[in-house]
Amino acid sequence: MSLQPVPPVVVDLGSLAVRRLLPRRQRRLVGPWCFLDVFGRIAFTDGKPLDVPPHPHIGLQTVTWLLEGEALHKDSLGSLATAVPGALNLMTSGRGIAHAEETPPAHSGRLHGVQLWIALPDAHRDEPPSFDHHAARPVVAAGRGARATVILGSLLGARAEGRTFSPLVAAEIACGASGEAHVPLDPEFEHALVPLTGAARVDGGALDVETLYFMDRGRRELRVAASTEARLLLLGGAPFDQNILMWWNFVARTPAEIEAARDDWERGRRFGAVAAYDGPRLPAPRFTARPVPANPVS
Ligand code: MN
Repeated sequence: MSLQPVPPVVVDLGSLAVRRLLPRRQRRLVGPWCFLDVFGRIAFTDGKPLDVPPHPHIGLQTVTWLLEGEALHKDSLGSLATAVPGALNLMTSGRGIAHAEETPPAHSGRLHGVQLWIALPDAHRDEPPSFDHHAARPVVAAGRGARATVILGSLLGARAEGRTFSPLVAAEIACGASGEAHVPLDPEFEHALVPLTGAARVDGGALDVETLYFMDRGRRELRVAASTEARLLLLGGAPFDQNILMWWNFVARTPAEIEAARDDWERGRRFGAVAAYDGPRLPAPRFTARPVPANPVS
């Protein structure tokens, strides 16, 4: 059961350059996970390296997970929540929400993290939007000199509560120098392993940092051998059986749905306003009806 490497592509978000690992031409989905950006690791003294102005989403959940630093979430429901290492910001767009994410005024001067999207299945994508901040996530031993923080779903007997709509898992695996993580996997899930820091090997092969390693269904365990301290993101989920169309910040099924969402955003309908954000919102790009990801801003 080999690992299939997918290298990142650099995307400039204006205030910050990110490495995008999903969607890529070689791999659009891992279970329901349809988007993955890695940002940082940076150190800064002033400015606001994370500054994504208000923008709309449909058909997805966003997961913001940090290894270092802070990300302040503001949305059109009035939510205000700062993601910090170990805490999860989970936004469910349902039929429509707008949000902004920015470095808060009081910060550590560090930033390193990931932003993920989860495609919502048909049965739930027209529901009202919601936002949840989970201050604590379960942390469990994961082998010799290794532990796992369960971000969503279940792993190693620990369950991370959270609103999800199809079978999935996300976890951060942390290995000490020469630690060895041993993690049982659900063979019904597709998985991806993304090394975020350090040097580690799987199945005898060295892993590249910020590369997505896809693992097909049927795999029952993962063994990660670290030679330095290492942190890795593990994603998994049941294969998503609905064809999705991604354009800008929308996950939909048809070009007409995307066009309607774009029109509603441009006309100030459906999504509401992010009143707590100080500055203009993002205008939608011109709709081109291309059935491929245009350039989601995250
Ligand atoms: Mn967003």
